[in-house]
Amino acid sequence: MKSINDLNRHITPIASAIEHSVYRVIASGWFVLGLEVAAFEKEFADYCGVDYCVTLGNGTDALELALRSLNIGQNSNVLTVANAGMYSTAAILATGATPVYADIHPDSLLIDVTDAIHLISTQKIDAIVITHLYGLLADVLQLVQLANSKNIPVIEDCAQAHGAVLNGKKAGSFGDIGCFSFYPTKNLGALGDGGAIVTNRNDLAQCVRQLRQYGWESKYHATLAGGRNSRLDEMQAAILRIMLPLLDNWNTRRREIASRYSKGICHEKIVTPIVHGEEYVAHLYVIKTTDRGSLKQHLAAAGIPSDIHYPIPDYQQPACAHLFSEVSKIVTEQQCNQVLTLPCFPEMTHAEVDVIINSINTWKV
Ligand SMILES: *Cc1c(COP(=O)(O)O)cnc(C)c1O
Repeated sequence: MKSINDLNRHITPIASAIEHSVYRVIASGWFVLGLEVAAFEKEFADYCGVDYCVTLGNGTDALELALRSLNIGQNSNVLTVANAGMYSTAAILATGATPVYADIHPDSLLIDVTDAIHLISTQKIDAIVITHLYGLLADVLQLVQLANSKNIPVIEDCAQAHGAVLNGKKAGSFGDIGCFSFYPTKNLGALGDGGAIVTNRNDLAQCVRQLRQYGWESKYHATLAGGRNSRLDEMQAAILRIMLPLLDNWNTRRREIASRYSKGICHEKIVTPIVHGEEYVAHLYVIKTTDRGSLKQHLAAAGIPSDIHYPIPDYQQPACAHLFSEVSKIVTEQQCNQVLTLPCFPEMTHAEVDVIINSINTWKV
């Protein structure tokens, strides 16, 4: 195994279906914002159980344009977490707004509701980005209720949680607007960059539709500031249409692998995530240990790849640390030093998972 994902094994079984769909686009002679994009937007909105989907160039643009559609900009404060790889921070900063960081819960590694409540009641918060990190739905019900009571809009970052379900509702359908990435390694990943927002609000969908295309209301008439070019192309849309019907089975396989790991790994220096139901789509399988360097080395010596999602809290990143000299979140900092991601992709066999479990269980600290 070369990395924690093996896209060759993921794509090979559907390569010929993908080729057919790509030829269909080539033959159509239409490559941007055509029938494939329109069809995928309809299919993905239906899948998520919402009224609208607007596809975009990538997931970071989805976050930024979602924020802009909610009038977030200079003088706005946006509540988010700092352990999720810079994505929400980059999008918030791009709008001119200021990220306000909530700490995370040490078990789930997701936003800590108690800290969120504290921040919302003590500062001006203009929007909340809830990140369903590693594929696990955050406490959306509680957070959305809290946000609604204060009239604060909620953006769900679903870039790691395509298809996660709670009470029959899919990731992206709980808040005002949900953001997705279709980067190749995501649970639903194109063969290139891609992204989307989903929403039940016509005003937000319309706004993002304008922002993805220069602020145009109609061709060459720009009526909205903050626009750009951020579109999913026809080929990626056609490829995603092949993959969408396979997503639920892929997620089931990911969840089986994660459960197998959590039941099989038994080591006094390792904490495994609890076994979850359909609210978890196992985008990443992440364990924790205070001896991460040693474990990573032990695994590498056995030919087992691992990775760290994510090593540095956003507010400590050299690119923006100067903006956050006062910020310190204890659990976030602790966990950034302990998390380790093991291979997890739908095509992994039980035997491959067991080899990794055995290697971990025989790790001598
Ligand atoms: C991948 C990811 C993004 C960004 O998506 P891109 O398509 O890479 O821009 C945003 N948020 C989270 C949680 C992600 O994992």
